[in-house]
Formats: sequence, C-alpha cells, structure tokens
Amino acid sequence: MQVLKFGGTSMGSAQSIEQVCNIIRNKKPNGRFTIVASAMSGITDKLIQCGQLAGQGQEQYRNVLAEIESKHLDTIRTLFPITVQSGIISQVKKRLNTLETLCDGIFQVGELSARSLDKIMSFGELLSSYLLAEKLKSAGLNAVWKDSRELIVTDNNFGNAAVNFLATNHQTAQYYQQQTADFFVLPGFVAATSDGETTTLGRGGSDYTAAIIAAALHAEVLDIWTDVSGMMTADPRMVSQAIPIPHISYEEAMELSHFGAKVIYPPTIQPVMDKRIPIWIKNTFAPDDYGTLIRSQDGETHVHPVTGISGIQKIALLTLEGSGMVGIPGFSKRLFEALLTERVNVILITQSSSEHSITVGIHEADMLKAKTAVDSEFSQEILEKRIEPLIVERDMSIVAVVGDKMKNHHGTSGKLFAALGRNGVNIRAIAQGSTEKNISVVINKGDVKKALNVIHEAFFEEPLKQVNVFIAGVGNVGGKLLEQLNQQHQFLMNELGLHVRVTGIANSRNMAFGHEAINLHDWKSALDAGEPSDMAAFAQKIKSLNLRNSVFVDNTASKDVAAIYGEFLQHGISVVTCNKIACSSDYAYYKSLKDLARKYNASFLFETNVGAGLPVINTLNDLIRSGDKVNSIEAVLSGSLNFVFNNFVNGASFREVVKAAQDEGYTEPDPRIDLSGVDVMRKILILARESGVQMELEDITNHSFLPKEALEAPSVDAFYEQLDVHADHFLSLREKADADGKRLKFVARYENGKASVGLQSIAPDHPFFKLEGKDNIVLYTTNRYAAQPLIVKGAGAGADVTASGIFADIIRSAR
Ligand code: ADP
Ligand code: ASP
Ligand code: MG
Repeated sequence: MQVLKFGGTSMGSAQSIEQVCNIIRNKKPNGRFTIVASAMSGITDKLIQCGQLAGQGQEQYRNVLAEIESKHLDTIRTLFPITVQSGIISQVKKRLNTLETLCDGIFQVGELSARSLDKIMSFGELLSSYLLAEKLKSAGLNAVWKDSRELIVTDNNFGNAAVNFLATNHQTAQYYQQQTADFFVLPGFVAATSDGETTTLGRGGSDYTAAIIAAALHAEVLDIWTDVSGMMTADPRMVSQAIPIPHISYEEAMELSHFGAKVIYPPTIQPVMDKRIPIWIKNTFAPDDYGTLIRSQDGETHVHPVTGISGIQKIALLTLEGSGMVGIPGFSKRLFEALLTERVNVILITQSSSEHSITVGIHEADMLKAKTAVDSEFSQEILEKRIEPLIVERDMSIVAVVGDKMKNHHGTSGKLFAALGRNGVNIRAIAQGSTEKNISVVINKGDVKKALNVIHEAFFEEPLKQVNVFIAGVGNVGGKLLEQLNQQHQFLMNELGLHVRVTGIANSRNMAFGHEAINLHDWKSALDAGEPSDMAAFAQKIKSLNLRNSVFVDNTASKDVAAIYGEFLQHGISVVTCNKIACSSDYAYYKSLKDLARKYNASFLFETNVGAGLPVINTLNDLIRSGDKVNSIEAVLSGSLNFVFNNFVNGASFREVVKAAQDEGYTEPDPRIDLSGVDVMRKILILARESGVQMELEDITNHSFLPKEALEAPSVDAFYEQLDVHADHFLSLREKADADGKRLKFVARYENGKASVGLQSIAPDHPFFKLEGKDNIVLYTTNRYAAQPLIVKGAGAGADVTASGIFADIIRSAR
C-alpha cells in the first residue's frame, strides 16, 4: 500500500485536480493506493467564517455559503463531461443542503459550539474527496470513496481531537481486508468519536490523516503532495533563497515542523516514524522535482550542520522571577502545572543559571489565561513579595535552527548569534534543546524576516551575502554610482560574494523602492514612477523594510539628510556619505554618530568627504589604528581652488577663471563656499577629528584672500562684480608669487591641535608646487613618517572618482 496525500492547493481547482489524477495514474500498476484529500484551498477558512457569522446571528453566512457552493459547482463543470455532471452536482448539492441546515440551526440559536464547528469544517474534505473519487472513477480507475470518520477514532476534543490508535488501527485494517479496490479516496482532517460525532484533527490535519492510515496499513511510503518542491531550508515565502532539502531525518523534520515549517503538520511524523515508513514530500505542480525524503537518520546525509530554519510568529514570553525562587525546588513544576491545567502549550523554556527566573514561550492567544492561572497559583508568594507577578511580553517570535549534526559541530551558535548581532536583531531569550538538534531564539516579531534571511545567509548561502543599498541623491555623483554598481554587479558576486542590490532611491522630487531590487538599467523610469520625495518617509520605509545588511548612501549636500543618520545607525543600518555636513558640524553630533555606529555594529563611512575617492581618511585611520601618531597634516584639499589658481595665468582675469571653474562644475553654485576657504576648513576639520582631536570649525584660522566686499556681496552676481572691482588685488597676489618663482596654492594645515587655511606661495622644491588640474594632495607627518611625510595625491574632485569612493565605502561596510 502507498498512501498519497494531496494538499489544499493541489485540490484547489479543476486544473490542479486533473494534475492530481495524472500523478495517481502514473503510479506503477499492480499496487494499492490510498489517496487522502484536503479541502479545496481556502474552503476550510470559509467554512469557519460561515459558522462564526451564523453563530453571531449575522445573515452574511449565506453569502459565504454561496461562495463555497459556486466554487465547487464551477469546478465540477470544468472537471467533468456534461454527461456525468448532473449526477455529481446533485450529490454535492445534497451535502451542501446538509451544511446549510446546520448553519441555519446555528444562526437560530446564535451560538457556535466547538462540536458544531467541527461538523461544519468537515464539509471541505468531504466534498473535495468526493470529487476526486468521482474523477478517478470517470478516468476508468477502480476507485472507491471511504469516509475517514468510519476509520479514525478520536476523543471528543473538538477542533484538535486525539487519536485512539488501537481502535483506529483495528477498524482500518478490517475495512481494507474486505475491499478489492485499487484506489481508496479518503477525506483528510476529519474523524469521529466512538459515538460517531464528527471531530477534526487540527488545522493542517490532512497530513496527519494520511500518516495515521499509512501507519495502520504498514504502507511502503507516505507521499505528501503539496505546492512546493519539498521541505525547504526555510519558509520560501520568507526567504527567497530557500532551497529544498533532499534528505532529512524524522527528528529534524519534526523539529522544523514544530517550529513553524508549515509544509508538514507536526503530529504527522510520529505514527510513520514508529513504523519506519518514509515520507516523501513532492510538488504536485513539478512532479519531476526530487522533493524531500524524510527517513531514518542513517540515510544519505547533507554537508551543513544546520538542516533548516523555521520560525513561529505571535509568541508571548512569560517570565516568573523573584528572589524567593532561588534554591527552592518545585517552582517550575507548579508553573507548568498551572499552564497545563489551562491547556497552554509551552513552546520554549529557558531558565537563568541563578534560578532567579524562568521564562517560557507560548502562543499569544493563550497569554491571558496563562497570566491568570499563574498569578493565581502563586498568589501567596506574590502577596509576600517573594516573587513578582508574571511578566508577559507579547509581539515576539521564535526562530529555530535545526540539524542532527549540530551537536558535532563547534561554533554553530556563535555563527547564529553573530549573524543576528551584525544586523541589529535583539535576542530576548535563547533555548537549546538537550539533544542539541535545535537552537531557538526569541526575537521581536518585526525582525523575523530579517533574522531568517541573515541566518539562512550565514548557514546556506556562504559565501554570497546580500547587501541592500538605499541611495539619496541621484544627480552627478549618484548617477555615476548607480552606473558603477550596475557595471560591477557580476564581478562583486563572483569575486567578493556580494550580491549588492539597490533597493531604494530618492532625489529631491521622487523616491522609489524596488520589490526585490531596482533595475539599474532603467532606474530613471523607476524613480519617475515613484512617489513624491519625503526624506522622513524614505527613512521610515528603509527602517520598516528591515532588510539585512542595509546601507544608506547620502549623495546630497543637504542638512536635513545629514540630520537623520543617527536614526539609521541606531537600527544597525550603515551610513555612507559624501555629504560633509555631519562630520563638519558640531563635534558632539559627529561624535554621537561614531558612537552609535560602534554601539549598533553599523558602519559610518565618509571617505569622500576629503579628496573625493582618494584614500585620505582610510590611510589616516589605518595609521592611527596601527598605533601611529599624527604630528602634522599639510594639504591642498580644494579641487576648485586648485583649478582656479592653476588657470589664473597671464591674460585671464580672476573673475573669468572663477566663472570658468563654475561653468565646468568645479565649484559649488555659490563659488564663495570654495573661494572663502570654508570648504577646505571643513575638510581639515574632519582630518583633525579623525586624528583624535576634539575641534570645532570656529577653532580654525582662515587667512582668506578674498576681500571682505566680495565675501559679503549680497548675491552671486554681486560677488562676481566685486572680483572685477578687486582685480588688482588678485593680480598682485599672483605677480608677487611669479616674481619669487613660486605658485599660489590654497593650503590647509594642522599641527599640535591647531588648524588653519590660507593662500600660500609655494616654492618649486615643495611637493605642492607641481600639483596640476583639480588634484588634491595630503602630507601626513607622523611618528613613523617623520623624516618624509606620507603622501596621498591624485584627482580630488569629479563625479566619477567621488562615486568610486562611495562605492568602495559601500563594499567596506558590507564586509
Ligand atoms: P498543503 O495545502 O499542500 O498542505 P500547506 O500550505 O499546508 O500546503 O504547506 C505548504 C506551504 O508551507 C508552502 O507553500 C510554504 O509556503 C510553507 N512552508 C513554510 N515553511 C516551509 C519550509 N521550510 N519548506 C517548505 N514549505 C514551507
Ligand atoms: N483543510 C484543513 C485545513 O485547512 C486541513 C488541511 O488542509 O490539511 O486546515
Ligand atoms: Mg498542509
């Protein structure tokens, strides 16, 4: 005998029932087969809804009944030839009439008992299995329909009845002995008490029906046909990278299903495991896929210590604590007995080694009755203040990693906690089963998806790591960055194992999020189709997506954007920025961001704040981290000023040169930001701070070469006029330098905790003399680089090099 169970989706439409028939027909001839059917998908929920509405005296139950009826009748009309339709329809209508009478009765009394609900729910499976049996018969197979309520005997715990195996096995064996059919079609989920009252086996219980029958008949194999290609490394709806597990032991499958892997109903495994009957999980819609074979441990094994990951939502944590518990036995016994009396199912237990507290995880639905029961059990101790009233925390979830081989592997839990910690997932409680087949952690419900994905990544996807990038500002620099990310995508996957996805982009007008990732070939259309930009909403969305390895990239020059970095860092989201504002405004803000980054394990990187893509800050960080001490920094840090003074040669007026620099995009829209030296002050400030000095912008001396009238001109146009008014001033600066054979450079200096910026005449033997175009140069004189400074030099402005600096920071943050 082989037992095949087909789930709700497999039974969900005429087409899928056809597919089920094909699978059954393709089974090898000469065998006997029992086929257990679930209700058509969605029908059990509708039946429950119908019963509840009727019980509440709401007439809408009739509409729901009508929906149930039309779903079945439509299926019959597609599934069967017209010649046989009417007979089948009349049979189905007969059953539906019984259901209607039942609901009418409930409506009249205005109350839905657990007993009546079971009766109502049974119709889903009764109807679907009847249709399948008829379909098999019409295909010429020797099939019979048998009511499972005449085979499976249970107690009267309606909704979740317990099976009497002795009676069930006896009845089942007897029935099959008398039959000669090849195919037996049975409704799943339904059973009956010894008095013949209809019961059900718990939601998802059709799997269990099939296992009970398989065990009773000592079947060769139990097939569970569903809508996925096996038991997967994680719930595929939560983890898109999940893959089927080809082989798994009964124990592992049981753990995974207990901890939420819905693909198989947890009680299913026990009866077949006792008889060593293998379970084969197969996909009705991809029957050639291997699926998952669940069998004894000695079978073929897999390489990972962890076999799968699962999660249970809607968990409440109960904590009993108090000094009165220490050293006194019996507290946990009383706690569990109180919970047992209320039939509260305990999913997880952890006790602190000081015995000062004990924590258990239960379903949120049981929270109130648990609280009442426990507080009443310990009322005396609570009164005497020896223990606290039961502490209840809701909105929790459990995530469990499962694997037979974990016990022989070191470092599994370390890897698990590290993956969660890196991503800012706070762990509320931990439990490890004594068999070491399972490690469970309790986390906030909002973190479940992220947690499952990072754990999956850590155990199954190595070395591929997903990085989720959110970009604010997609102008010159941002546009180039997107281009580079697109171009390097495959390389990063192949060479660094990084799967970098741009998940959100925003400019000052619009913002857009990709379902998976934004198509970088066409990000402009995605942005155009997005919603109006709002930085607070952008940040909120990034936080609520709560994706693993998230990086926020700021390519703007906006104060408002710089003001929200802290929010990201606090959520473990890294920040990469070319915007100088955060690092060059108040020291306290800069420091707080650095502290947050450390505290929440996120990166805060801003290499491009000084010298665009040049490794100015990283070099400095490396020196300091390795124990060196910076004694002085001397630098030319303004590409714009360099351009201006390099082009301020014979013939051109100062005004013309500045205008040309602005037209070429080498200055800010208001060139004074560059010419005044403020931009350079910000940069040397950042270098001083990164050297370990607490400094503010006001502490820096600025020897400005701009006349006061130009600096304070009311507009950019007026500023340009002032450059003409003071043309002689600029000319004389240059002529003086020329006369000495020197060149003008705008230099920033830091030494002994003091910093200054200003125009200087540079002699030919100085490294600054030959600085061309928009290049930058930084000289670090340190304890190690004392005689000769360490020099960083190269292009210090431009969208391309800035973008590549940001790119490098993104990669750094991800690794
Ligand atoms: P059926 O109606 O066939 O009984 P279910 O909906 O009960 O199907 O179970 C199959 C579903 O279980 C899959 O569609 C999948 O979304 C979900 N699921 C959750 N965890 C896992 C897992 N680890 N492996 C496979 N499927 C899982
Ligand atoms: N139809 C029932 C349910 O939805 C049983 C099952 O499908 O396994 O819970
Ligand atoms: Mg199921």
